This record gives sequence, structure tokens and C-alpha cells, in this order.
Amino acid sequence: MNEDNLKLAELLFPNPLPNTEELENKYPQRNLPEGAIVTRVAPSPTGFMHIGTVYTALICWKLAKQSSGIFFLRLEDTDKKREVEGANQLVIDGLETFQLDYDEGPLLNGSQKGNYGPYIQSLRKDIYQAFAKKWVMEGKAYPCFASPEELEEMTNRQNQMKLRPGYYKEFAIWRNKSLEEVKESLDKGLTPVIRFRNEGHSAKRIKVQDLVKGKSELPENDNDIVILKSDGIPTYHFAHLIDDHLMRTTHVIRGDEWYSSLALHLQLFKAAGWEAPKYAHIAPIQKLENDSRRKLSKRKDPEAGITYYFEEGFPIGGILDYLLTIADSNFEPWRRKNPSTSFNEYNLEIKHLGKSGALLDFQKLNHVCTLFMSQLTVDQIYQFSLEWANKYDLELKDLLEKNKDLWISIFSMERDNLNQRKDLSKWSMLKSYYGFFFDPIYQNLEFNLEEFLPNVEKQVKIEACQKLIKSLNLDLGKEVWLENIKNIAEGLNFAREVKDYKQEPDKYLGHFGEITQIYRIILTGRAQSPDLYEIMKVLGQEKVIERLEKYLNS
Ligand code: GLU
Repeated sequence: MNEDNLKLAELLFPNPLPNTEELENKYPQRNLPEGAIVTRVAPSPTGFMHIGTVYTALICWKLAKQSSGIFFLRLEDTDKKREVEGANQLVIDGLETFQLDYDEGPLLNGSQKGNYGPYIQSLRKDIYQAFAKKWVMEGKAYPCFASPEELEEMTNRQNQMKLRPGYYKEFAIWRNKSLEEVKESLDKGLTPVIRFRNEGHSAKRIKVQDLVKGKSELPENDNDIVILKSDGIPTYHFAHLIDDHLMRTTHVIRGDEWYSSLALHLQLFKAAGWEAPKYAHIAPIQKLENDSRRKLSKRKDPEAGITYYFEEGFPIGGILDYLLTIADSNFEPWRRKNPSTSFNEYNLEIKHLGKSGALLDFQKLNHVCTLFMSQLTVDQIYQFSLEWANKYDLELKDLLEKNKDLWISIFSMERDNLNQRKDLSKWSMLKSYYGFFFDPIYQNLEFNLEEFLPNVEKQVKIEACQKLIKSLNLDLGKEVWLENIKNIAEGLNFAREVKDYKQEPDKYLGHFGEITQIYRIILTGRAQSPDLYEIMKVLGQEKVIERLEKYLNS
């Protein structure tokens, strides 16, 4: 090792630092079965959890779990400017809500689990500095005292000369400074950044293999990038190198905004003499706007944040199903064949992950959530509704708690082993769909039967109600009930069957369906509802008659 480099390293890092060899031993290769994937989600805690972070975490979690590997959480909090109080907690809570349990990582109580930590980058400062110092000793890194003004002036010059911006070749002004020159600047009280002495050539190309994007060649990077900022905090590039090496990550699965740094990252691993992990860059979730696609923006799109989905009341399992649907095109056909199987049973394959951005489509999300909800048991629906209402709708919470039996009857309508009613896609729909069962909500519903059914004369509506009030007996079963309504229809000169009416429309005033519609609208305030007989059963004979009479008296 060059004497000057050793002196330089001591000058720059006089403080005691961990021994890098000992670090290597402290975090040994993991003893895992062949093919086990060790991966992580590494969000920057900014006080906002992007749905894309959940998407990435889900993919990482799934790949690790299904290979008997390790999924860990690392909090990348090196950007102190963006630090927000409670941000770490938000990430930890977010993962917990989505049940993406990590094997290792920081915990809410401030401790951590796992032997490869600390898992919060701000607690790893010494580790980064130890390696930066080693690199200075080995001549792989050097200090740079260029001021922001100098660097800006350099970029302007590069722009004028139509050259690439960056700190390379003749622009790498501190690359070959002597120990004396460094000392002079230090004596002036200046603090340097530490830069990577990059041996790359922009004319050369590096072969890369990305597990999503496939094989490709990228130009080598020749920038002497900053690895340690002047406050001793690493840049993303250096932290990624050190952390994913020491934490023995086998697969770096991350957003494809990092793909353009891949050449540099491979160069860093090479410089360190370490085997690089495998990389999979996943396409971001996009949104369609004016016929063109763009990334979901935290600033512009409320649906970029997970709280949006929570507030709307999408069920967690449904959101996860949806994210798998957009991640892997084979998931949806699998789900169709296995509607009630946990997605844990599905084998996600990296090669199926889409190369281009998945599109966020609310129609599809609702559809997937409806299917998900239809597979829940009545008790689960009640429980999940209550959990949601407890946070987001206290009026609903009250209704749910005070009328548990009624809700269980409501949720049980049209549910048997073969058929599950598919109407709800989110908990926030409960009041608008089923609120009519409750008098306080029913009384406030504004609906006008005449507007709903303009083709049926008022007199018919009145008589239909009067007749039903006289003849209703819900205890006799559905068939008797149906027969009775058909009789009422016939007595009012409406066809007993829709098809009879269609064959001879002139013979009738209308058909049986219009008569049931009168009752449906009066009882529910809506033109669409679950099966009318079941609704009447849940409401009960008395309440049905009360509402019909109320109409007659209105
Ligand atoms: N902190 C980086 C980000 O949030 C992590 C990228 C990675 O997974 O390496 O984008």
C-alpha cells in the first residue's frame, strides 16, 4: 500500500473505526438452502408511503418466502434534509398492515431483529466510513474539496463545450492532488467529500444481466462519484454497495429508476472485489393521463399514497391480490382457478414480471377486491368492516357494533357454497349499499318512486302495495312469496313472466319485474339490490309492511 495513501486515510479518518475484516466475519455468508433468495425493501422514510413501495415489498417478500430465503427491511434515512418525524414508524406500520412480515429489520420499539444490522442506515455511519477509509488506503477513493461554485462553473463549461456533465478525466480536479495539497485544505478547516477513483471508460461497455429487463450492454461509468458526503454520510451508491454486501443480499429488487446506475454499481462491486448480487429492476406503477402513461406522482396523485386506499376502504387482501395481478400476468388466470386459495400458494416468477410499467386501473382494482371480498366468511366481513369503521367511519362503527346480528344476516344474504354475492369492493360502500336496513339512514334517503318507475301508473303502485300488505307472509318460504307476487301482478294486468310480456306486449300493462321493482325501490331506496325476498326476510314482515304503508301515506 502506498505510504501517502495510508497517511491520507489517517488524516481524513482520525477517529476510531471498525475493522473491515472483522465486519466481514461479523456478517458471514448466510447458511440457507440452495436457491434461497435474500432480498430487502429499502425505502427512504419520507413520511409518505408510496403504493409502489408496497408493490416492491410484496414482490421481494414473496420471492424470499417462497424460496425459504430472507426478506428484510432496511431504512435508508441518509438524506437528513428529507427527514420527518414518525417516518420510520409509518414504513413499519405500512408493512405490518399489508402483512409483509420481515425476517430482519428495525422494530417499532426502537430495537431490531436479525444479525446483519443495524438496519437503519444512519446507525451504520462507522461501517461506511471504515470502508471509505480502506478505499482511501488502497487508492480507490480520494478526498475532494471542490466547492459547489467550482462544480457549477465546471458544469457550465461542460455544457458550453457540449460535453457530458460530471466529474471525470480532466474535470476530476482533485483526483491527483498531493498529500500536501490535501493537508493545506484541511488546515483551512475545509471538509472534503470522498470520491471513488473510477477506472471506467465511457467508450467501453459493460455486459449486464437484469432479471426483468434481460441482457444488455451499458456504457461504463467514468465519473468519480461521491461515496461519502462531507458530513460523513454515504451516498446511495456507496451505501447500497456496503449494505447489500454485508447483509448478504442475493437479489437486489428495486424500482427501475435505478437501472441507469447499474453499470456504476457493478463497477463499485468490482472495485471492492466483491461478488455483485443479482439485480431485478421492476417497472413502476403508472397512471394513464390524456392517453399517455406516467409514473404515479406523490405530489399530484392522491392514489400514490397507501393511506388513500385505506381511507377508501379497499380490503388489504384485495389490494395485495391486485398488486400481484399487475405484477405478474400469470397470477390472474391462477386466481380464477383458485379463487379461495391464499396467494401464498402462488409461485411468483421474476421472469414473469412486466418490463413496462403496470397501469393502475381502478375498475380492475374494484373488480379484484369484489372477488376477494366474496371469498371472505361472513364473520371475516363483519370483523374487517369493524376494523375499518373503527378508523375511518365512526357512524358505521356504531351501526356495526349495535346491530351485529342484523349485519350478520345482511352479509349472509345470497351466500351459499356455490354462489357468493359480488357487490362490495370496499368497506366504505357498506352504508350506501346496506344503510337502508337501518331506519335512521332509510329515513334520510331521498328517492322518488315515480321517477324511478315512470311507466307504471301511480294507481298501480298503490294497489300493488296494498295487495302485498294484505297477503305478505314471509314464513311460507320463497316459492310461496314469489307465487303471491305473480298473482298480484296478474291481478293488476301485468304479465306473470317477462317472456309472456315480450311475446304479447299489447295484452299487458307491464310485467312481473316491474311490480317487484316497486317493492324494491320502496324498501331499499335503490333500483338494484340483492335478492328481494332475502331483503324482506332480513327486514322482517313488520318493517316491510311499515315501509309500504309509509309509502301509501306519503
Ligand atoms: N432508498 C432507495 C429508494 O427508496 C432504495 C432503492 C433500493 O431498493 O436499493 O429508492
